[in-house]
Amino acid sequence: MKHLVAVLCTAILASGCEQKTDTPSNQTLTTSSAVSEKSATEKSGAKDSVAQPQPSVDQKAFYQLSDQMIERMWQLFPTWAISNGYYAVADKLEIPNVDFRRKALVFARGYLNDFAKYDSQKLDANARSDLALIQSFLNKTIWDLTEFKSHEWNPADYNVSHGFALILNTEYAPLDVRLRTFSERLKSVPAYYAAAQQTLHNPASPQLVLAIQQNEGAKSIFGDDLKKKVAESGLTQAEKESFDQRINAAQTAIEDFITYLQTTHASLEQSGDFRNFRIGNKLYEQKFKYDIQIGMTGEALYQLALKEKDRLHKKMAELADELWPEYFNNEQPPNDPLDKISRVLEKLSLQHATKEAFKADVEKQIPELAAFVTEHDLLTLDPEKPLVVRTTPPYMRGFSVASINAPGPYDKGANTYYNVMPIENMDDAAAESFLREYNTYLMQILNIHEAIPGHYTQLVYANKSPSLIKNILGNGAMIEGWAVYSERMMLEAGYGDFKPELWMMYYKWNLRTVVNTILDYSIQVKDMSEQEALDLMMKQAFQQRAEAMGKWRRATLSQVQLTSYFAGYMAIMKLRDEMKVRLGDKFNLKQFHEKFLSYGNAPVPVIRELMLSELKEK
Ligand code: ZN
Ligand code: ZN
Repeated sequence: MKHLVAVLCTAILASGCEQKTDTPSNQTLTTSSAVSEKSATEKSGAKDSVAQPQPSVDQKAFYQLSDQMIERMWQLFPTWAISNGYYAVADKLEIPNVDFRRKALVFARGYLNDFAKYDSQKLDANARSDLALIQSFLNKTIWDLTEFKSHEWNPADYNVSHGFALILNTEYAPLDVRLRTFSERLKSVPAYYAAAQQTLHNPASPQLVLAIQQNEGAKSIFGDDLKKKVAESGLTQAEKESFDQRINAAQTAIEDFITYLQTTHASLEQSGDFRNFRIGNKLYEQKFKYDIQIGMTGEALYQLALKEKDRLHKKMAELADELWPEYFNNEQPPNDPLDKISRVLEKLSLQHATKEAFKADVEKQIPELAAFVTEHDLLTLDPEKPLVVRTTPPYMRGFSVASINAPGPYDKGANTYYNVMPIENMDDAAAESFLREYNTYLMQILNIHEAIPGHYTQLVYANKSPSLIKNILGNGAMIEGWAVYSERMMLEAGYGDFKPELWMMYYKWNLRTVVNTILDYSIQVKDMSEQEALDLMMKQAFQQRAEAMGKWRRATLSQVQLTSYFAGYMAIMKLRDEMKVRLGDKFNLKQFHEKFLSYGNAPVPVIRELMLSELKEK
């Protein structure tokens, strides 16, 4: 839950798709396996096979153009390519200057024009939905460059570390080969930061603070560990020397950039002329339309979230009444239903793993979840793609409790990892507070969300879908929505035997996604203050202070992304209801799930259209 899926990558124009918020992205962090010839054939072969029965001339030309656009895109945005597991351009680093933005604009306008030739009615369902994603992406790119312009005000767009970390930590080729690529890319770092300084003016405060932190962190990638690796490598003496010089130049460039950011921060703090980090109604609705793609405004979703919050409070109050006597004996419950819920949640949180057994408990649960899904006929799981549970590797730590590290579209054969935060080394008080938050009930929900049948299962299906476009330009609301939907679906199917404790904790967790939506909209559009935000989270969503403060920070750094969980979830629930009505007795939950996932990471309304057109064909 606590991760960002940066598939659409709003930052590509300024920085080549670096992480913008404090959470690692899902599919973008790929592990091992090279860009094999296999995936290249899969790519073109698979597309032809879905064009049924015989691809028309139009359709063939459409796929050719789409492939050509992707190739061009990788040349233009090599960092984004790397995060998709496409390493052929990894020796390049885009320099975020005027020329680069002009090229990006030419790219977007040119392809928008080229794709306008295709009549979507003449394409099959798969191509038609690809076309919708492509057009939305190209329009978003133009909007980013000409209206949103985060390259001018968001210093956190500028951070080279992500791409370099992937080259270093992903075994897509032998180390010496990767080091040569790394060295070549390193040459451009000084020019990169010089362009960043020239482009930035009028930055927003939270983004400025984040950029300082992130670039401080970036220095560690170019530190002594790297120098040691280079010294011990098979590179020639001359190569090693130039590598060393480039490391030093990169370090200096990052240092200079940090100094520049600090100076800017100090002077803006004095003058009070920071740009407002709140983007306001107009930009918010535009960004919402491009990023969320559920055919609804941000305002409408916000209204839905307000209603859903009240509904969940009622459900929780009922459960609190049911559980109260068992946990509090004869003590009188408080009158305020929110207080009562909060007291019960506190009691339930005392059920938790030990510090030592935390990871083993997670590991034990994965096969149990898989068995439940299979026994209850909810979905077919692929036994050939096991999930490897591991302690989060050091360079990825500090973001989330648990996250999925899945292979991207170019390295489908690679392992999928379930990263679990190491807590053995926490002091006892910190560990206790952590373990209460991630208690026995909540960990089950989190494992459903992250692993089975949530993110991990969805990504296995997505990697089988024939569309490279849907993998690359995937819709975050669909991806997060599925994970949130899967929590509810498992509980409805009887996972946990309808135990009220589990449902209670589920509602708390679900309330978080609802409140994320309320927060995001209220902060960005309605000027909600920090204190109001903290009150909302702590009093109405039962969150701990530390968590609420972290969320406030995240909500000041990103816009719209926090709504993707609730938006996607609501859209999927609505689609399921619609299909139940349309199919009546013939509705089958397993078939619905498998069909839904088979289209890849497409926006829910696009999936709906594909499902309906298949129904009509039958
Ligand atoms: Zn998630
Ligand atoms: Zn305890």
